[in-house]
Amino acid sequence: MQPASTRPGAFILLNDVQESPLSLQIVHYPHPTLRHLSKPLKRVDAELRKIVAEMFELMYEQKGVGLAANQVDLPYRLFIANPEGDPDQTEAELVFINPVLSGGRGQEEDEEGCLSIPDVYAQVTRNATVKVQAYDLAGNDIRREVTGLTARILQHETDHLDGTLFIDRLGPAHFAALRDKLEEFELAWQSRLETGELPGYDVIAARTEEMERLRT
Ligand SMILES: [Zn+2]
Repeated sequence: MQPASTRPGAFILLNDVQESPLSLQIVHYPHPTLRHLSKPLKRVDAELRKIVAEMFELMYEQKGVGLAANQVDLPYRLFIANPEGDPDQTEAELVFINPVLSGGRGQEEDEEGCLSIPDVYAQVTRNATVKVQAYDLAGNDIRREVTGLTARILQHETDHLDGTLFIDRLGPAHFAALRDKLEEFELAWQSRLETGELPGYDVIAARTEEMERLRT
C-alpha cells in the first residue's frame, strides 16, 4: 500500500506521430508482467496517448473501472480509471502517470475483482481515504485526496504497478476459498505456453526491456 520508490520530477512531452497498429490485450493471471515492478515514465508521446485511448476502450468493454498499464503488458507506471464505469461519462475519466499514494487513513472492506483475474471476487480491506500525486497526459501535476470507490481503485491500480494483485491482500481463509479458481488460471497458462500459443518468458522479458528502453 505504500507507494513506489523513485519518480521523475516531470517527463518529456512529445507530439511525434508514429504509425503503429496497436492492438492491446488484457493479460491474465499468472502472466509475468503482472508481477513486474513498473518503471516511471520519462517520455509521453503520441503513441502513448493512443495506448491510453485503447486502454479506456478495453476497460469499458470488460465493464471495469480501472486498468493499469502492466495489465496490457506494458511496464509503465500509468493507470486509467473511471469510477462511474460509464463510457458516456468521459468527464469522470482519470489518467495517472507516475502516481504516488500517501496519507492513507481509515479502513474499509469491500468486494473487488480484477480484469486480469476474470470472475474472481473477494472482500479486500483498503484505506478509506488516500492522497495521490501524479501527472496527467498533458504533464499537469495532479494532487488530490480521494475517498470511497475512487480511493479503492487508486490503491488497487497502484498495487498493480508494484506487481501486487488483490489476491495477495487476502487473509488465509479468503485466499483458500479462491485457490481452486486460481489453479485453473495457472493450468490454462501452462497449457497455452506448452502449445506455443503464448510467447515464452524470455520473449516477454525481452519485449518488456525494449518497452522500458523507449519511455522510462
Ligand atoms: Zn486489477
